[in-house]
Amino acid sequence: MAKKVAVIGGGSSGLCVIKCCLDEGLEPTCFESSDDIGGLWRFKDPEADRASIYKSVIINTSKEMMCFSDYPIPEEFPNYMHNSKIMEYFRMYAKHFNLLKYIRLKTKVCSVQKRPDFPSTGQWDVVTETDGKKESSIFDGILVCTGHHTHPHMPLHCFPGIDKFKGHYFHSRDYKHPFEFSGKRVVVIGIGNSGGDLAVEISHTAEQVFLSTRRGAWVLNRVGDEGYPVDIVLTSRAKAFFSQQMTKSMVNAWAEKRLNARFNHSHYSLRPQHRILNQHPTINDDLPNRIISGRVLVKPNIREFTETAAIFEDGTKENIDVVVFATGYSFSFPFLENCVRVVENEVSLYKFVFPPHLEKPTLAIIGLVQPLGAIMPISEMQARWATRVLTGLAKLPSASDMMADITQKKVDMAKRYVKSPRHTIQVDFVEYMDEVACQAGVKPSLPSLFLTDPKLAWEVFFGPCTPYQYRLEGPGKWDGARKAILTQQERILKPMKTRVVKDSPNQASVPFLFKLIGIVALFAVVLAYF
Ligand code: NAP
Repeated sequence: MAKKVAVIGGGSSGLCVIKCCLDEGLEPTCFESSDDIGGLWRFKDPEADRASIYKSVIINTSKEMMCFSDYPIPEEFPNYMHNSKIMEYFRMYAKHFNLLKYIRLKTKVCSVQKRPDFPSTGQWDVVTETDGKKESSIFDGILVCTGHHTHPHMPLHCFPGIDKFKGHYFHSRDYKHPFEFSGKRVVVIGIGNSGGDLAVEISHTAEQVFLSTRRGAWVLNRVGDEGYPVDIVLTSRAKAFFSQQMTKSMVNAWAEKRLNARFNHSHYSLRPQHRILNQHPTINDDLPNRIISGRVLVKPNIREFTETAAIFEDGTKENIDVVVFATGYSFSFPFLENCVRVVENEVSLYKFVFPPHLEKPTLAIIGLVQPLGAIMPISEMQARWATRVLTGLAKLPSASDMMADITQKKVDMAKRYVKSPRHTIQVDFVEYMDEVACQAGVKPSLPSLFLTDPKLAWEVFFGPCTPYQYRLEGPGKWDGARKAILTQQERILKPMKTRVVKDSPNQASVPFLFKLIGIVALFAVVLAYF
């Protein structure tokens, strides 16, 4: 009999989790509280009690880096997709793998509790509610895919006088369109990706936008070198390998120099005290343009509000009509009761997936990470591992070993990142994917690849670390992976090839010397791997 698995949430993580369950011979039932799939990527206007996005959102990870590993995003789709395009991809994925029939829409999970015989069976009682009717079912496994942008973090207590303020204030989660800010003076608090996006968009209609930040930020471009998506340029095994050979301060200096070459962060009042690697990146191509044209003015933290104005920590005062709290999110799992404790966004999960103290490893949290890179392939990788743990094909270490790993990760995170509730589940893309891939037995072996298929090995090492790499070998191997890797460059360029352009005869091709240096470096790396 196939084991029955409850998948909680039908967003991007829920979809790939259903597919991974099917791949491992499990029997999934996905419970989705809203009336459709897609999670926060499905825009709906307006919607209470559900995390959702604003109408204009364009994702800040590119299509080749964010796709599921055995289902490339169509070549004609743009590299950075509008949310409607992302939904189109999710629907194609769900249809292709026939996932919809496993999803029960408008069904909320009320509670998940261990059954009395849990220590021997690992089974759970799950109570759900559909159209006001409650139902209880037994499951062999639980995969939680509810995300971490669940509750708006609204730190009103940090802003004295906000209760007297006569204007309008709200959290960025409730922002949908810019037109209602026409002619208004707006302050946006927070310089994460929401704060940056909203300040830019509102500045097109508002009289004036102020972007208030308590520590500043380094701002990256979506469009990287030669117009390639920045994550394509930065996320490679070669870059990960070479940056491990450098000190953190060398990497910081290199990256900050490049960002300051685009616009000097001090001149734009954005420069923080901390180094670039110490903070989750803010990605925004338009922000410097809005600052240089005076539509957005960068300000320090707000000391207090009066009835009509904000007084900033430098003593300056601005009349304000609207305050947008782009101050992030918190997460919790109220339906899990005591199984997973979250305190101020701190949670103890083995490799951010498994609670370490369960008698049986039959519950996992999927997608509870904030990567420097795309989250969808990470959720998929976690799901490939978790489903193998559910079937018994992969084993977890002892509770004490898991706790040691959790503690070490917390220490490393605290050392690297500035203290903030937004930095509790940070991971680096290549390193974390490899770590979980080892657990799932799907990490590509570069030395043997180099010996058997040097052309592919070259692209795997020097090219972007796209999710297809994790389908080259091991459980879930996909025959299309090699071709997907060798054609990824074409898929990146394809959507922009909308007019025939002849190369100039004066354009030099990559000099032979550079290629030679590359080959020598590859040999050195292969030797290092051995
Ligand atoms: P976030 O990354 O948590 O940023 C919150 C911001 O609010 C930070 O600047 C933080 O400052 C500030 N803040 C928090 N509490 C504060 C306080 N008490 N006083 C002053 N400032 C305070 O939240 P987010 O920007 O909403 O982003 C959430 C997630 O969604 C991120 O993973 C982000 O990358 C993603 N996102 C993606 C897109 C996109 O793909 N286009 C768009 C929006 C968001 P500190 O740094 O000082 O704590």
